[in-house]
Amino acid sequence: MNKEKMLSEAFAAMEYAYAPYSHFHVGACVETRDGKFFRGINIENASYPVTVCGERVAIFNAYANGYRKDDIVGIAIVTSGNALSASCGMCRQAMIELLKKDTPVIFSNGQEEMIMTVDEMLPHSFSGDDLL
Ligand SMILES: [Zn+2]
Repeated sequence: MNKEKMLSEAFAAMEYAYAPYSHFHVGACVETRDGKFFRGINIENASYPVTVCGERVAIFNAYANGYRKDDIVGIAIVTSGNALSASCGMCRQAMIELLKKDTPVIFSNGQEEMIMTVDEMLPHSFSGDDLL
C-alpha cells in the first residue's frame, strides 16, 4: 500500500470537490493491488439527500473500472475542516459491502492523521451474510 500516494491523490482530488452548500471539501483515493489509484470527491446537490460523499465516489469509481473488494488495498479520505473527520454512517455501511473488513482507511486533514480498518469503523455490522 502506498499511503503517501493515496493521500496526495486525495488532496489533489479535493480541489475538485463540489460543495457549494456546506463548503466542506472532501477528497478520496482508492488504491488497487495492481497499482491503480481512483479518486473521489463529495458532490452536493440543492436537494440535499442527493449528495454523495467523496469516499463512496472513489469506491464506486474503482468498481466502475472493474475492481472489487479483493483488488482494493486501501482508501485515503481527506477533509478541509479544522477537525479530523471520519466517514458518515452511510459510507461505513457502503465500505462493509464494498471493501474487505481488514482494509485500512486513512483519514487526514493535512495536520492530523488516523488509520482504522473497515471493521473497526463499523463493528457488529449488517451485511449480506445476515441474509443467508
Ligand atoms: Zn459519507
